[in-house]
Amino acid sequence: MKFGGTSVEDPAAITRTAGIVAGRVTMGKHPVVVVSALAKVTDQLLRCASCAAAGDRTGSLAISSRLRSRHRDTACALVKDPKESSALVNWIDQKFDSLDEILRGLSAILELTPRISDLVVSYGERISSRIVAAAFCECGIAAAHVDARQVIVTDSQFQKAIPQDAIIEKRAAERLCPLIDDGKVPVMGGFIASNEDGITTTLGRGGSDFTGALVGGALSAEAIEIWTDVNGIMTSDPRVCPDALRVKVISFEEAAELAYFGAKVLHPATILPAVKKNIPVLVLNSRNPTNEGTRIISLAPHCKSPFKSIAVKKKLSIIDVVASRMLMTHGYLKAIFEIFDKHQCPVDMVSTSEVSVSLSVDSNEKLPLIAADLSQLADVKYEGKKALVCMVGEDIRGQNGIAAQVFTAIRHINVRMISQGASEINMSFMIDEDDADEAVRSLHAAFFKDPDPSIFDVEAHKKQLSVSGS
Ligand code: ADP
Ligand code: ASP
Ligand code: MG
Repeated sequence: MKFGGTSVEDPAAITRTAGIVAGRVTMGKHPVVVVSALAKVTDQLLRCASCAAAGDRTGSLAISSRLRSRHRDTACALVKDPKESSALVNWIDQKFDSLDEILRGLSAILELTPRISDLVVSYGERISSRIVAAAFCECGIAAAHVDARQVIVTDSQFQKAIPQDAIIEKRAAERLCPLIDDGKVPVMGGFIASNEDGITTTLGRGGSDFTGALVGGALSAEAIEIWTDVNGIMTSDPRVCPDALRVKVISFEEAAELAYFGAKVLHPATILPAVKKNIPVLVLNSRNPTNEGTRIISLAPHCKSPFKSIAVKKKLSIIDVVASRMLMTHGYLKAIFEIFDKHQCPVDMVSTSEVSVSLSVDSNEKLPLIAADLSQLADVKYEGKKALVCMVGEDIRGQNGIAAQVFTAIRHINVRMISQGASEINMSFMIDEDDADEAVRSLHAAFFKDPDPSIFDVEAHKKQLSVSGS
């Protein structure tokens, strides 16, 4: 059971989460709990680190001090026994004392490496998991805190470390199974890990989902539950499209595609451990725990609507490489991709014409260097503030006229690149970032006006409409 930042954001949320876990224990289940940092803490820790490395020692320590108070207050509100409470608060103080020492060091050396950034952000999950474990004990759950860094072992690519599955499986058997066998509920932080030398790493932003799935996979769990602040995977981000419907069931392949192309509700790697062992993933709402959520399984039932959901990935750039003579030359595309490989820059989408290759990548500080290298091969230009809209659904396979419907729905918007993957489960296109929300709403209106009730939660939607009087 993985609980995201909003599910542990304050004492009320943590108490709600404890109630959900206690419910599973009462049902005779043996959960392992993975928690994120309290909501927004990771952002604030990153800000602490960058302020310190920019020489703003006072500003950095001020953020840390506010975080210390928030964690102390949360702990005190949850743990009533005075002895337990003061032991926990002392422990929190020790952690913040050592964080402050790192921040002072950063403000002296004025440099922030990915390795130190991982160490700084790790405090979020290290502390949240300890507080949640204590709160669970207070609610009568036999919780046992486990330092995630002793279970999740990765390579040394700081900020986006790759888990080492075999070691994780062994560590899970050594550190988690004895606790479970003993009737305990292990509670650990998500997102954080360590390399084989014990140095702290992280799995990338949003990585607690991935931790949940890694632990579920390592233990061959019955299910991997991702508890968040929405009723499940929706037909689009409900913050962009308030009409979004809950998707009741979706395939691993569709969910992975959506997550990769920007649906923040799941970290893109979450599905991998589940696929390996064919473990269902459930996306559930900790604010509405009786809702069925979304069930992600290997084979989803056939659906009448061509698409299940629309994802958007923003902050992208398009790089156009134009060379009239070279394009069809043997080895040309290889030379282009070698440059992206050299800069370790993943490419999201590619489209080629007779004279040009267009590639889309996350906007990043390496772009000028990549463009300089590419200009050895051809003329290069790049442009930021682009968004990739990705429509996902297995039932577009072999259907005629879907592309015409998609581009009719957004006929008022300028499309820069188009792609339909060979898997034929997604149709994606690049547009200006400023047009992205409008595009999603237009597509949603076109494709979800008569949703298939066996796949989408049409009832909840009708109720919502009658409450809002529309
Ligand atoms: P957590 O902190 O629990 O990991 P996140 O903020 O990472 O939660 O992810 C949940 C958010 O993802 C939702 O609040 C929602 O705004 C956003 N989201 C984006 N796309 C979708 C989608 N297709 N379905 C549901 N939520 C989505
Ligand atoms: N706390 C981390 C983040 O905000 C990991 C997570 O919440 O999944 O990115
Ligand atoms: Mg998340």
